[in-house]
Amino acid sequence: RYEPVDRRKVLEQRLNHFAPNLSLTYDEPVMLLRGWKHHLFDEWGRPYLDAYNNVPHVGHAHPRIQAVAADQLKRMNSNTRYLHPAQVAFAEKILSKLPDHLEVCYFVNSGTEANELALRLARAHTGAKGMVTPDHGYHGNTTGVIDISAYKFNAPGGVGQSDWVELVEVADDYRGSFGRDDPERAQKFADLVDPAISALKSKGHGVAGFIAETFPSVGGQIIPPKGYLPAVYEKIRAAGGICIADEVQTGLGRLGDHYFGFEHQGASPDIVVLGKPIGNGHPLGVLVTTRAIAESFAKGPEFFSTFGGSTLSCRIGKEVLDIVDEEELQDNARQMGARLMAGLRDLERDFTCLGDVRGMGLFIGVELVAPDGSESTEICRYVKNRMRDHRILIGSEGPHDNILKIRPPLTIEAEDVDMILHVLRAVLTEVGDAPPAPAHDHCQAHGAGCGCC
Ligand code: PMP
Repeated sequence: RYEPVDRRKVLEQRLNHFAPNLSLTYDEPVMLLRGWKHHLFDEWGRPYLDAYNNVPHVGHAHPRIQAVAADQLKRMNSNTRYLHPAQVAFAEKILSKLPDHLEVCYFVNSGTEANELALRLARAHTGAKGMVTPDHGYHGNTTGVIDISAYKFNAPGGVGQSDWVELVEVADDYRGSFGRDDPERAQKFADLVDPAISALKSKGHGVAGFIAETFPSVGGQIIPPKGYLPAVYEKIRAAGGICIADEVQTGLGRLGDHYFGFEHQGASPDIVVLGKPIGNGHPLGVLVTTRAIAESFAKGPEFFSTFGGSTLSCRIGKEVLDIVDEEELQDNARQMGARLMAGLRDLERDFTCLGDVRGMGLFIGVELVAPDGSESTEICRYVKNRMRDHRILIGSEGPHDNILKIRPPLTIEAEDVDMILHVLRAVLTEVGDAPPAPAHDHCQAHGAGCGCC
């Protein structure tokens, strides 16, 4: 049963009560009240295919997650200052998925917090402050990690670049300095780290480390050429720094062939950061590191997080990882990803506005371009909004916001994939070389500058 909810009233209240930089997706925002697997339902019970959200990794409203959460809340929910088998069980499950040298877990409440902690660990271990990171990256919303998130600090009105941060070009072999036809491109992109290291040293910051989304997602669903990260890590380590893999977007089986993105690269990070999908919607972040780094950090004050590693969080986190294994979701990501990529490649052949299709498992980007090959924010926006009109939710990313981001829960099925491809073909047919003007219903109702469009 659905109570009638006035979507426009909720929107109006939201505009009144929340800050203007809290953005909404889609020109005509959606209100979602229920979910099931990779499906969502609006205020009228109308279904939407969720082809965007990576947080409900094992599906929306998974009955096993509901059951462990309810069970634990009935018993008690406390913190890591008391013994509880759920905490160690969760740690052991995570560690079973990681290389042996990563043996110490920290539990926090978000990807942001885990990256913030990663910065502290890197500095405690190395005694240095400087960080190298790819351009257009995102690692979270706090003061510390905004400083290593070029996507935010370089945005209009952003805080700007700190002098202890050096940016390197994203290893994007579609648009970047070294293309896919260059067999040396992984090493050439990695070599761009050399001047960054020198700059940090000459400014007296030293090199605390390198942090990167293993596959840059906010930067445009980029898959760096194989071997890029190991080559970078070698240089960073030689300079005394440690290497941090932000696996918030790529981890836990999404890539199909790999449980973590760094496996594809053949890289061996010193710190792995997990977030978003690991709680399937419950706020949860995890950092895993080496014994030596944990010991350096332990020379400082006690580390404690009130909610990080709560009994409830640990039970949910472990259940998510168990479900990925038991429902063979990594394998599903591989199969459905391959089906989607094959269909997208067909579309790429048929529509010139598809400049590039790239992806691995259910981490996929489709770059939309104008007839001259330049990034087309306009086409991307049109396609994303028209897909929403057809009740298929996908996102957009990249420095020019021209890359469709397809990143569904791992439960997606063959029929859903076929529907995405069928509808996308219809929408691309509407586009031709230039998209028709979108009808901004919502903006017409609220006037220009309402903050939503
Ligand atoms: N790292 C990456 C790669 C992310 O995509 C995000 C969130 N989009 C974060 C960190 C921050 O996670 P959270 O929003 O849970 O703090």
